[in-house]
Amino acid sequence: MSDFVFRASDVAETTPLIELKDIRKTFSTGGDVRVDALRGVSLSIYPGEFVAIMGVSGSGKSTLMNILGCLDRPTGGTYLFAGHDVSGLDPDTLAWLRREAFGFIFQSYNLLATATAEENVEIPAVYAGLGPSERKQRAKALLERLGLGDRLTHRPNQLSGGQQQRVSVARALMNGGQVILADEPTGSLDSKSGAEVLALLEQLTTEGHTVILITHDAKIAAHAHRVIEIHDGEIVSDSGTPAKQTKIAVGISRLGDRPTKATFRAGLDESLRMATRSLRANIFRTVLTLLGIVIGVSSVVAMLAIGEGAKQQIIDQIASLGTNLLIIRPSGRNWRGGPGIIATLTPEDAEAIAELPNVMSAMPDIEDDVTIRYGNVDYRTDVSATTSVLPMTRNWPVAYGSFFTDVDNDEYATVTVLGQTIYDTLFPDGSDPIGKYVLIENVPFLVIGIMSSKGATARGDDSDDIAFVPLNTGMLRLFGVRFLRSITVAVQDITQIDNTQAMVEDMLRVRHNGAEDYRVRNMVDLLETVTTTQDTLTMLLGSVAAISLLVGGIGIMNIMLVSVTERTREIGIRMATGARQRDILQQFLSEAVIVSGFGGVIGILAGIAVALVIGAFGNPITFTWMPMVLAFACATATGLIFGYAPARKAARLDPVVALSNE
Ligand code: ADP
Ligand code: MG
Repeated sequence: MSDFVFRASDVAETTPLIELKDIRKTFSTGGDVRVDALRGVSLSIYPGEFVAIMGVSGSGKSTLMNILGCLDRPTGGTYLFAGHDVSGLDPDTLAWLRREAFGFIFQSYNLLATATAEENVEIPAVYAGLGPSERKQRAKALLERLGLGDRLTHRPNQLSGGQQQRVSVARALMNGGQVILADEPTGSLDSKSGAEVLALLEQLTTEGHTVILITHDAKIAAHAHRVIEIHDGEIVSDSGTPAKQTKIAVGISRLGDRPTKATFRAGLDESLRMATRSLRANIFRTVLTLLGIVIGVSSVVAMLAIGEGAKQQIIDQIASLGTNLLIIRPSGRNWRGGPGIIATLTPEDAEAIAELPNVMSAMPDIEDDVTIRYGNVDYRTDVSATTSVLPMTRNWPVAYGSFFTDVDNDEYATVTVLGQTIYDTLFPDGSDPIGKYVLIENVPFLVIGIMSSKGATARGDDSDDIAFVPLNTGMLRLFGVRFLRSITVAVQDITQIDNTQAMVEDMLRVRHNGAEDYRVRNMVDLLETVTTTQDTLTMLLGSVAAISLLVGGIGIMNIMLVSVTERTREIGIRMATGARQRDILQQFLSEAVIVSGFGGVIGILAGIAVALVIGAFGNPITFTWMPMVLAFACATATGLIFGYAPARKAARLDPVVALSNE
């Protein structure tokens, strides 16, 4: 705050509390039209006076009151308050002065419609930094003293005019109200209520308050101890200060004794409370405003959960195959276009690769559709002709019985190992298949084992819907080709997989006379591809989210601008009761942040719900915390950023302009 502090000792017995010297106020109303509302007003008011400023409508009374109450600045002249020139004070110091020294009473009461009587009375103390319980106690005591003890929780529209005006008197007294400025306080009241308010004001003067009553009515002015008449912005008569008033210096002794720095917490507390209240008052609008943020956040949360789930599933499946694999396939045309069309990979290639360093195994494979029959069941499925290294290479153990050996392969043995699905189909009674013969393409094969179950492949096919036969047997008896569909190479040291891949490629190039009619894929690369794809997806989602947050932010900005316009009068009331620019800024920013933060929370919940629903249809979903936290933070930041301009607009309002807003 400033060094502008009042102490009793500052004010000599003959120093006026208020001293105006040649105060002028000229309004320019568009174009060249200028109104001289005050043309050189000079007057002195001493502590404890009860002064009426009287004049016809348009004579400049309200203008004078606004200047006296530091709501407005004169265009000329000097205003000394307790001997200090107030003309050079910044807006926050003026706010402090209004808060500590003045109490305003308006013809139209100017209570906050959404707040209870008690809360209305508390407002000046909020900005003065008084603690909540102390504040409540004092507001209650004041209202009780003014005969409103049973109306504490009533809202203005539940109170009569006279009661509302008494609430505003209580509000004026909340911070001390050493100087009460009352502009036509009885103007809207019936004669009985008006008389009560006048009596109240008179009583306040006996308690040391200085009361300045503004009225156009001579009968009301007659209640005061001194009448100043104003006409066309000039004082035309002044009954003068009663002699005893110049001798006392009471009333301001406590000014400056109070803490003048509102604690940040108390202010924030009030901001949040006000914010939630005003948002609740406009619940439908609030929800609409939330929508942009909700959609943005929920789509990110849901889509990431789904994307992450899919990625996790693919990674798991790749990992279950083994990440230490190189897969070699013929390149160019599809092998399935017909047997022998791509004559590239041979069993000898596989044998040669198996001899390379760091190669654990090289598994040749030919695969095609076949019909398997057992008893009277015909089943269309795949058969893979391969070698004894399959269980080791693909990390796929036999569940029952055994896998065929190299000897079986060398001897063209007609033996087969069935996948779980085939076993379940051909032997629905669960009987032991070992030693039984099945017909594959009408060739009888002896069943020697059942594979363990492997589940779905990366593409969603059933891994277990396959039967295995020795490579040689398959080539000779089933497919009639000598060329492989793939060679799967398992490496020992996965860190050397790139070297091994290079060696395999070099060797195949030599063996194939330089023809690059094959392609070597590396499972680690595949994993990286999946991850990269996922990251691209994440970025895409991120931009979708950013756009919806932007739209949501613009929505918040729009609604906050409307809110500032709608509540200009509220802002004026708050400023008159001593709110600093920072308090107003904080309040409106809080509203924006609450809306967006609330939207963020709803968005996260909605996103989780959507993801769960999609998960219930069998899609894998994986929730991760990071996107949720980030989305929430972004939503809240959006509120802060887009709420700032409207909040600043509110904070920069001129108190007089704001108050006169209808
Ligand atoms: P009173 O309260 O005595 O009725 P005011 O102080 O409100 O009178 O107004 C005094 C004169 O100043 C009037 O002529 C009024 O039209 C003019 N006036 C007051 N406020 C403004 C303003 N903001 N802009 C332009 N003229 C104004
Ligand atoms: Mg007026």
